[in-house]
Amino acid sequence: PSGQAAPLLHGLNPEQLAAVTLPAGHALILAGAGSGKTRVLTTRIAWLLSTGQAAPGGILAVTFTNKAAKEMLTRLSAMLPINVRGMWIGTFHGLCNRLLRAHHKLAGLPQTFQILDTQDQLSAVKRLCKQFNVDEERFKPKELAYFFAGCKEEGLRPRDVPVRDEDTRNKVELYQLYEEQCQREGVVDFGELMLRSYELLRDNDPVRVHYQRRFAHMLVDEFQDTNKLQYAWLKLLAGDMVDGRLQTRGSVIAVGDDDQSIYAFRGARVGNMQDFVREFGVERQIKLEQNYRSYSNILDSANALIAHNSKRLGKNLRTSQGPGEPVRVYEANSDLAEAQWMVDEIRQLVQGGTATRSEIAVLYRSNAQSRVIESALFNVAVPYRVYGGLRFFERAEIKHALAYLRLLENPHDDTSFMRVVNFPARGIGARSLESLQDVARQIGCSLHDAVSSISGKAGANLGAFVAMIDVLREQTQGQNLRAIIGQMLQASGLIEHYRNEKEGADRLENLDELISAAESFVTQEGFGKDAVALPIDETGAPLTQSPASQGLDPNAPLLNQPLVDADTGETLSPLAAFLTHAALEAGDNQAQAGQDAVQLMTVHASKGLEFDCVFIGGLEEELFPHQNAMSDQGGLEEERRLMYVAITRARARLYLSHAQTRLLHGQTRYNLRSRFFDELPEECLKWLTPRQQGFASYAPDMRAVGAYQSGARGQSGFKSEAFTSPPVPPRKEAPAHGLRVGLAVFHTKFGEGKVLALEGAGDDARAQVNFPRHGTKWLALAVAKLTIVE
Ligand code: ATP
Ligand code: MG
Repeated sequence: PSGQAAPLLHGLNPEQLAAVTLPAGHALILAGAGSGKTRVLTTRIAWLLSTGQAAPGGILAVTFTNKAAKEMLTRLSAMLPINVRGMWIGTFHGLCNRLLRAHHKLAGLPQTFQILDTQDQLSAVKRLCKQFNVDEERFKPKELAYFFAGCKEEGLRPRDVPVRDEDTRNKVELYQLYEEQCQREGVVDFGELMLRSYELLRDNDPVRVHYQRRFAHMLVDEFQDTNKLQYAWLKLLAGDMVDGRLQTRGSVIAVGDDDQSIYAFRGARVGNMQDFVREFGVERQIKLEQNYRSYSNILDSANALIAHNSKRLGKNLRTSQGPGEPVRVYEANSDLAEAQWMVDEIRQLVQGGTATRSEIAVLYRSNAQSRVIESALFNVAVPYRVYGGLRFFERAEIKHALAYLRLLENPHDDTSFMRVVNFPARGIGARSLESLQDVARQIGCSLHDAVSSISGKAGANLGAFVAMIDVLREQTQGQNLRAIIGQMLQASGLIEHYRNEKEGADRLENLDELISAAESFVTQEGFGKDAVALPIDETGAPLTQSPASQGLDPNAPLLNQPLVDADTGETLSPLAAFLTHAALEAGDNQAQAGQDAVQLMTVHASKGLEFDCVFIGGLEEELFPHQNAMSDQGGLEEERRLMYVAITRARARLYLSHAQTRLLHGQTRYNLRSRFFDELPEECLKWLTPRQQGFASYAPDMRAVGAYQSGARGQSGFKSEAFTSPPVPPRKEAPAHGLRVGLAVFHTKFGEGKVLALEGAGDDARAQVNFPRHGTKWLALAVAKLTIVE
């Protein structure tokens, strides 16, 4: 390595150093959590660049989330004085999007194709079902969407799906119709992004060869969670099969941990690791065994737990940090009490200066668990941020606004058309829409184009809507995003609608936020007025020739602008680019930057991240491990890997908890303590509440004793007075709340609302209240300040 690279390599251990400075060739780095896999990947890219072995345009790196991609780019630009925009670093979906934009014609798509997120996809499927009178009991739209996605992940088009029975035949027919609908509307779902770009590479030799030559270095993080199609996609980019053998040009470095494979349910294949070694003829495998993240009580717990799995590739993990704090275990009476305990602990951690809020994470197995924790945090005004909940780009008002914007880009986007044609209300009823859909189907055109065939009052109203969109498109030509969005919000009537809505202030604020989001996107992505037409070459230098002249000559300088048509050099409009961004990043954290907030997320979403303090709640049989996964060994082992991921997110402190009763999906459940507790080394744990002698002893009583539900908790020896260290959080006396269903109530933060349901008694009593402005919430009556409105 040259002198310039030396500081980059400083502090790496010998195995990490070996991995970072591997000579060209394929390699697999197999290593446990927190051993520096991601750090090695990032450092290797920096090393390749700074030693001149690679140019930014020659690198393709796949990360698991957009957030991880951004982090990698930020770190790289801090390490090196280079234009990171030339690198292809992103998620599989992000990279496929780039490819499809660049070669949209070959891929058979309009350049401005829109991306359907999971929500949009479901509504597209529902629309399809309506149109073809599908019996939605027999073929649930959600299951159909899942089926289509599954086919695509397997790389199967409708004609390729093996038809075993009548049921499958019907589903495949619908799959075919769904594809036709998407194609007609110019939209692609997430699965389609992947499959379409795979087919693009497979079927177009010049394109494939071009990228094969270009990407001399491919690096893949979290390789254990790639699915079959993603692996096939990588293989296409790496080289061609010649006489049954893969002939590759560049080098592929895959990094993974079989113990952290947690997406098998979505088609991930750990087997890709073995296939990779075999098919790529991998000669170098490196193991990293030093964990830099956690103290040994945490690491030993993780190691002991995962040792219960049978199918493992086998590797060790050690730390040279001391034992650190014990892993704290808490048993709560109810999910409410669990949440309350978490919040009390969190406040102590923050007040005592042990951790900042953003260094505290609360992890849970299932999204539904967050509600109770959120309301406990909310009630004591601790800022928090939920990853993966209802994210900015998924909120109703934002989706409405985006739908208008999408119609400006593409009038044939029927999903968006349906979303806003009568929002705000324009007197267009379900009947008129049905006949519009019928006409569109008969003619074989989009809803937009079918409007002229509708007569009468309905036709007039529809015509006015379409005219409004068309005029707006004309008027906003060439304007900047702020102006476009501003005019759209006015012309569509959204602003007026929310202004008149009694509690629409929040929504108006969010719409304002949309403008900010668009502006920061423009600056970040270089879509400012100067940057739009400035393609750069492999080295990050601006291209002087017209990009169109570059064509696809594999030896020509390369276009690195992500959203440029490779044939014409036409760049995507800032608006279209922004819409893409909104769809792709709907899964990312959109909370106010810079706010110090407690992090709430599912275990799945926590992959690759680390925090000083981690709480894992709801460690109960049937919840974690999840009931769907308990019937077979494979499922149980995946749950255990999930638990392993959860534990290994913690640097310094780990808290585990479970509750005796839990209200989930509207049902009170009496769950047993998770078996995972029995798989952790006792010497690493500290029980904050007395450990029972195995759960079997109290299990039968719990289910049998009806009195339990009404608060008689003595039977199984759980007396809160008996708890010693630390004291159970003090509870207020149960309010004699006097609420009943249908009553109007007032909450100091949420305003007026209506009681929908009541549950529980004493300090576990809670009410479900609908607040017009904030939606439906469950409130703990012992905590929430509700007054009855006369
Ligand atoms: P996961 O499996 O959870 O994705 P990982 O193997 O990718 O983990 P990293 O996130 O890269 O691990 O590293 C874990 C932590 O250890 C990070 O904070 C990283 O900065 C730190 N770390 C890695 N290598 C070293 C090292 N040689 N010296 C000091 N700290 C290190
Ligand atoms: Mg990592």
